[in-house]
Amino acid sequence: MKIKRIAHLGLAVKELDPAKKLYCDHLNLESKGEEVVAEQKVKVSFIQVGESSLELLLPTAADSPVAKFLENRGEGFHHLALEVEDIDAAVAELKAAGVRLIDETPREGAHGTRVAFIHPKSTFGVLLELVQYPESH
Ligand code: ZN
Repeated sequence: MKIKRIAHLGLAVKELDPAKKLYCDHLNLESKGEEVVAEQKVKVSFIQVGESSLELLLPTAADSPVAKFLENRGEGFHHLALEVEDIDAAVAELKAAGVRLIDETPREGAHGTRVAFIHPKSTFGVLLELVQYPESH
């Protein structure tokens, strides 16, 4: 498989505005918009950092996986997302290699992307997301 870049770092927060204030007002980075990802019960806010971005994650429901993460671990680093050229091929390759996946088939992510998460048990403690951008990106 071909990994193209670090797409984003996912950061779990309890409130979006104070975090956006830090990154946009104090660190002078640019906000790239917000989106609710209904399936994952999160509102995401992207902050551009060079060719990568930060993905601030705010749970939209008490049973959101990010809400559970905040309960157990508090705010902070949540996942690392790597951009792949072909997510179907990447997932198939990992499955064949016996790597434990959370998503056996890619699902819909923010901004028309397709994503698949790899289980932290297979990645030395890091929740790893593979993301493929739509052709027009
Ligand atoms: Zn992500």
